[in-house]
Amino acid sequence: MTELVRYLNTVDGRRRAAADGQWIVSQNPFTGEAWAEVPRGTKADADEAVAAAHRAFTGGAWPALSATARGKLLRRLGDLIARDADKLAAIEVRDNGKLLAEMGGQLRYIPEWFHYYGGLADKIEGGVLPMDKPEMFAFTKHEPLGVVVAITPWNSPLLLLAWKLAPALAAGCTVVIKPSEFTSCSTLAFVELIEEAGFPPGVVNTVTGYGSELGAALTEHPLVAKVAFTGGDATGAAVYGAAAKGLKHVTLELGGKSPNIVFDDANLDDAVKGAISGIFAASGQTCIAGSRLLVQRSVYEEVAGRVAAFAGTAKLGDPMRSETQVGPITTLPQRDKVLSYIDVARNEGARCLLGGGRPGAPELARGWFVEPTIFADVTNGMRIAREEVFGPVLSIIPFEDEAHAVEIANDTIYGLAAGVWTGSSRRAFLMADRLQAGTVWVNTYRAVSFMAPFGGYKRSGIGRESGQEAIREYLQTKTVWMNL
Ligand code: NAD
Repeated sequence: MTELVRYLNTVDGRRRAAADGQWIVSQNPFTGEAWAEVPRGTKADADEAVAAAHRAFTGGAWPALSATARGKLLRRLGDLIARDADKLAAIEVRDNGKLLAEMGGQLRYIPEWFHYYGGLADKIEGGVLPMDKPEMFAFTKHEPLGVVVAITPWNSPLLLLAWKLAPALAAGCTVVIKPSEFTSCSTLAFVELIEEAGFPPGVVNTVTGYGSELGAALTEHPLVAKVAFTGGDATGAAVYGAAAKGLKHVTLELGGKSPNIVFDDANLDDAVKGAISGIFAASGQTCIAGSRLLVQRSVYEEVAGRVAAFAGTAKLGDPMRSETQVGPITTLPQRDKVLSYIDVARNEGARCLLGGGRPGAPELARGWFVEPTIFADVTNGMRIAREEVFGPVLSIIPFEDEAHAVEIANDTIYGLAAGVWTGSSRRAFLMADRLQAGTVWVNTYRAVSFMAPFGGYKRSGIGRESGQEAIREYLQTKTVWMNL
């Protein structure tokens, strides 16, 4: 058996195994082989990490730093991530099976969040209030909330961590990170850079382990002020409930069933490419996956045929290789969940245009692959159109006109994102206005940026990440009155 790479947590600047010495083994989704292990933390580890973050928030070097100095640390951290982007990307690929080409691009973009929020750290300005009482002088200032617990999922561990960590630190909070039990390795490797950047001990801590074992310990902990969570909506509801017991602040970035809408006046070449990358990037394991392709009836068969033909050429394989276009599913239970949804779609009467199972190629047999799968003649009432599959499964639904497209698109419990493909600017504005989603893309899909607020309507979440809005999620306002 090959020796496992061992990653450790960081608490108060020290590397830590779990208090009771237990480990979780990480498997490579392409080979199914165990390759690394991370501490299996429990309540004792959560308590220790939160206590360290609380000490760092209330005393010592961190609160004594100026906002400008905080900003410089963040920008230095961004530079270190850029330096180590390839190394971190390779760790994440081994852990979650995403394509190295895609991960490399993501890792090279992640530093921008640290540079952007590093720049914002000393621009958190309060105001002087024009008082209605002449004897009074009053002003506001914005102060950090305190200890933040950042909980991340397995699909994009470092990107989704950056969205929380950079604004939280810029605001002056301290942080305890809990990555997914399936993909903790890149986070633990990344945290070593925080020390190198010069952050004081205790400002950023990690505790790895199962959500079910650690969840309540972290989200109900009395010294935690805020929980910033990305994951499924059922888990999000549990996190929200636990945080509510202690009246904690939350940001929740949850799931989606996003509509990608193609009108007959669109550039269909672009729309077909956008539909494919919208659903098959990261093997469909993105919260913003355009899993419902709504196509105007007049071009329905043409678009469905072209999407299926194009997706049929996708090369499945080793995510480390540059020619691979579709990698494995990150976890075995998720692979089985995706396959079970394919059965559901078939039983519901959807027409399978492509894929529909595990690939037959022997070199893919050990990996947790699902073929790119496309169903046509889906109605929006079918489970395949209503529930988040989180895999490479596209449902194509016909519509008649704008009003019909809006009706179908908004008929979902989710509201994370939506895409519109059209040659008409009138239609673009009209659709952007009517779609109930936190992000609407017109003639593009999947674009994100450090400066663009991101978050969900309806069951897709609460609060916003990225952009100037996100830093406010980690601040509270103090009003100071002075009797002159
Ligand atoms: P998940 O909800 O199963 O787990 C997310 C995290 O929560 C993990 O770290 C897990 O250990 C932890 N957790 C589990 N139970 C917990 C509890 N009771 N208390 C506290 N923490 C707990 O999600 P996942 O399967 O890892 O990720 C996939 C989901 O994430 C999908 O639904 C996807 O749409 C969503 N997602 C959303 C966004 C977004 O920005 N909106 C981005 C990526 C993924």
